[in-house]
Amino acid sequence: MKQYFPKSILFLILFSSILACKTQNQTTTNNATSTFQNIGSKSISQVDSTQVLADIKYLASDELKGRRSGEKGNEVAREYIVTRFEKLGLEKFNDTYLQPFSFYKRFTKKVYDCNNIIGKITGTKHPEKYIVLTAHYDHVGEKNDKIYNGADDNASGISGILAAAAFYKKNPPKHSIIIIAFDAEELGLEGAKHFVDHSPVAIENILMNVNLDMISRNDKNEIYICGTHHYPILKEKLGDINAKSPLNVLLGHDTPDLGFNDWTNSSDHGPFHKKEIPFIYLGVEDHKDYHKPSDTFENIDPSFLYQSTNLVLEILKSFDQ
Ligand SMILES: [Zn+2]
Repeated sequence: MKQYFPKSILFLILFSSILACKTQNQTTTNNATSTFQNIGSKSISQVDSTQVLADIKYLASDELKGRRSGEKGNEVAREYIVTRFEKLGLEKFNDTYLQPFSFYKRFTKKVYDCNNIIGKITGTKHPEKYIVLTAHYDHVGEKNDKIYNGADDNASGISGILAAAAFYKKNPPKHSIIIIAFDAEELGLEGAKHFVDHSPVAIENILMNVNLDMISRNDKNEIYICGTHHYPILKEKLGDINAKSPLNVLLGHDTPDLGFNDWTNSSDHGPFHKKEIPFIYLGVEDHKDYHKPSDTFENIDPSFLYQSTNLVLEILKSFDQ
C-alpha cells in the first residue's frame, strides 16, 4: 500500500490534465488541485490505479496477439489472470480456478477447448448467497497479419474485476462474490453459457450477475448500466448511482424497441438473463476502434477506466446490503 501511494499520485498528476469529469464541470472552483484531491482520496481507499493500468496494458499487449480462444495468446492471458487470482488470494472451487469446456462451431468447423477462470470471496453475513462479477478475457485474435489487441474489449473489464476483487479481499463483502473471467465470449457467449449450466453453486443461490464489457473510454464521458428495465428492483437498489461517479452514468439500452441497440443479450450477462438471474451490464457505446486493430492500450482513456472501476465498486456496494 505504502509503495503504491506515490505511484498513484504520479498517475493522477499525469492524467489530471485530461480529466473532463462531471465533478469538474459542476465545481466553480474548478482547478486541477481540487480534482486531484477529490480523486486522490478515492484512489487510496478503493482502487489501485497503477495496478489497473498495468493489468489492461499487459492484457492488450501485442505479446498476447488478441487473446483468441483456443490460441496461444489466450493461454498466456489465462496464465496471467490465474496468477493475479492467486496473488489476490481468491478462493477456489474444487481446488482449481479453471473451468474447462469444449464446443464445436460450424462456421469454422472447429472444436474449441476453452477455460473460464473462477474465484471466490466468501461473504461475512450471507455466505450461501452469491453475487457473480464477470468479464470476458478473450478477443478476436489476428486477421490479415494485424493484431486486434482488444484493450477496451475487454482487457478493461478484466482489470475492473481484478480491482473489485482486490477491494473486497481487504473489505470483505456481506454476500459471497464469485469473480469470473469468461472465455469464448466473442465466439457466442460460450463461456457464460457453459457456466450457467455447470455452476459450482446452486443457481437459485445466485442473486445477480454484474457484467463488465468495454469500460475504458467514451468521448462524452458516458457509461451505461443496462438491465434495470428487466429487473426494476435493481434500479431501486442502485439509488442515485449517477451521483456517486464523476462519469455520466445512464440507465438504458435494455428495451426491445431499440433493436440492435438493445444490449440485453449482447454480452455474457445474456445467459444469466435467460436463466432469469437478474443482471446489470456496465459498458460504453461502440466507438471508432470497436473490433478494430486500433482498440489499443494507447487509445483507452486511463482516467475514464479509473472512474469506471470505482463505479463498479459503488454498484457492487449498493447490491451487497
Ligand atoms: Zn466484449
